[in-house]
Amino acid sequence: MLLLFLLISNPVKDVYEPSRQRMVEEQIIARGVNDSLVIDAIIKVKRHLFVPKTLTSSAYEDHPLPIGYGQTISQPYIVALMTELLEVEKTHKVLEVGTGSGYQAAVLALLADSVFSIEIISELAHSAEKRLDSLGYNNVTVKAGDGYKGWKEHAPFDGIIVTCAPDEVPALLLEQLDTGGRMVIPVGSYYQELLLITKDSTGITEKSIVPVRFVPMIKGD
Ligand code: SAH
Repeated sequence: MLLLFLLISNPVKDVYEPSRQRMVEEQIIARGVNDSLVIDAIIKVKRHLFVPKTLTSSAYEDHPLPIGYGQTISQPYIVALMTELLEVEKTHKVLEVGTGSGYQAAVLALLADSVFSIEIISELAHSAEKRLDSLGYNNVTVKAGDGYKGWKEHAPFDGIIVTCAPDEVPALLLEQLDTGGRMVIPVGSYYQELLLITKDSTGITEKSIVPVRFVPMIKGD
């Protein structure tokens, strides 16, 4: 009877927890990401709830996965690396361009004060918004729109993360980055590099981190 009660009162036991733990150890920590707050956040977010149902069992594998409309959820290591580079603090307001499944936004939500995320494909924006809502990530605001424009009403941002690749750093995003802020963005077409951009009172500094392969950033109208 007690067992039955425990089973009923705990219906959401997460069978993927061991896979998630293994993903973090073998793919993320082993490659050098060591910020414990980032690692804790990635352990907490149930990545299998952000991929299409048919791919649930592949959610913790070491590669990106399709999420429909020709788009992908990034490889777990890349999400971890970009999040670490952003150096998010509990008081920060962060902008994400390229909501996709909402997975990266969920990871950021656990580290930041608030997350604003823009997605150009409205079907993806709406499904990510619904998913984030139902999972209780209520400090994330999603809108369907063109990320090249940023989100002026909420600027300036302490951090900006772009998860699709433009040919060059969009000027309006640079403008909407606060002094002292950091931007992590893949830039290029076929050959892309992940850039860390910092802004201080003397100007902008760019540092190339690693070669990457992201879906292109779509030009709006
Ligand atoms: N961060 C996502 C991965 C997204 S893939 C996740 O965690 O799942 C990149 C996303 O960028 C795609 O969904 C694509 O539609 C979106 N995108 C491409 N160009 C864009 C633009 N100009 N503005 C906003 N989003 C854009």
